[in-house]
Amino acid sequence: MEKIVIVGAGPAGLKAAEILAKNKKEVLVLEQKNIIGNKVCAGGLTNKSLSFGIPDNILQRKFNELIIHSKNKKSSIKSNSPFIATINRKDLGKWMAKNAKEAGAEIKINTKVDSIGDKSLIANGKKINFDYLIGADGSNSIVRKNLGIKTTKILEAFQYVLNKKVKDIEMYFDVNRFGPAYAWIFPYKNSVSIGTGADSNYKKLKVSEVKNNLDKWCIERGYDIKNARLCACPINYDYQGHEFGNKFLVGDAAGFSSGLTGEGIYFAMLSGSDVANKIINKDYDYKNIKHILRVKKYEEIILRTLEISKSITRIEYNLLINMVKFNWFDKKLIKLVD
Ligand SMILES: Cc1cc2nc3c(=O)[nH]c(=O)nc-3n(C[C@H](O)[C@H](O)[C@H](O)COP(=O)(O)OP(=O)(O)OC[C@H]3O[C@@H](n4cnc5c(N)ncnc54)[C@H](O)[C@@H]3O)c2cc1C
Repeated sequence: MEKIVIVGAGPAGLKAAEILAKNKKEVLVLEQKNIIGNKVCAGGLTNKSLSFGIPDNILQRKFNELIIHSKNKKSSIKSNSPFIATINRKDLGKWMAKNAKEAGAEIKINTKVDSIGDKSLIANGKKINFDYLIGADGSNSIVRKNLGIKTTKILEAFQYVLNKKVKDIEMYFDVNRFGPAYAWIFPYKNSVSIGTGADSNYKKLKVSEVKNNLDKWCIERGYDIKNARLCACPINYDYQGHEFGNKFLVGDAAGFSSGLTGEGIYFAMLSGSDVANKIINKDYDYKNIKHILRVKKYEEIILRTLEISKSITRIEYNLLINMVKFNWFDKKLIKLVD
């Protein structure tokens, strides 16, 4: 039987493992950490992610209103039913690992892949053979490095998680503080993630300035960050291919995340499932990956216009805030992200 080794037990790797194992493939997932899902992430999910069957009882919160601000304006995207949710990544990891194991996949935690050859790799000093290798090992992927693919488009994302109950989910646009990105307030049941992202290629604002601006913004809004730890992690959105002979890249390792919103969980699961289907059926046409790439193409155009000048960014975001006052626009926007 063909053996598939998957590096990384994030949403991309676990989704691929579940589908492959369900189709009677021999699957081994190698995860360097001792806890699955222990990942710096705000855990924001739009409805499309829920199409993977994530049960309601592992969601933290569901919202049918998203408040958006600029420096002087405030509005909200509203719907009759919830269209955005938050999840704790450890809960998501636990649920996905259970599904993969029940389907027959083997998952080894505390197992770091150190080097990779054509048909074998070394993890914790031991040689493991494979017929296919899936790199689902996130934005600092060793599999991507082994394939010789450079990464230039990166969002540096960072967040505080505070033990505070917060009612509303919010996004805040201020080009002087956060450039073309936004700051978020994503509430959970008893805590909240407050963070932002900075594109390392954006010349008008350094990543360190964005970090300082986030701190100032938190303090102004009364969030006690004195004793909180700022956690940071890159988001690779630099897609340069996903199939390389018997090796594949999925999720952040391939750069499937959105450079515009930083959203990556859904794209990780979707690309993981597509690559699994390709290994199962050689005629599979990667229909979901093709869709992700179409979305990324449009996002790239928006991103580049946002980066032209601060005044253009300001105009675009104010336009967005004015438009979401209209119900028909909210419906269109929600449909677009779903
Ligand atoms: C601050 C922040 C906030 C974010 N907020 C959101 C959000 O609200 N919504 C959203 O959709 N996305 C968000 N993202 C993006 C999201 O976290 C990623 O897109 C998503 O986790 C990608 O999934 P993945 O499976 O590709 O990789 P990961 O989740 O990164 O999983 C990769 C796994 O591989 C393991 N690994 C790495 N190297 C090795 C190795 N050598 N050997 C063995 N194992 C290895 C890692 O330990 C990890 O478990 C955020 C990211 C950041 C940084």
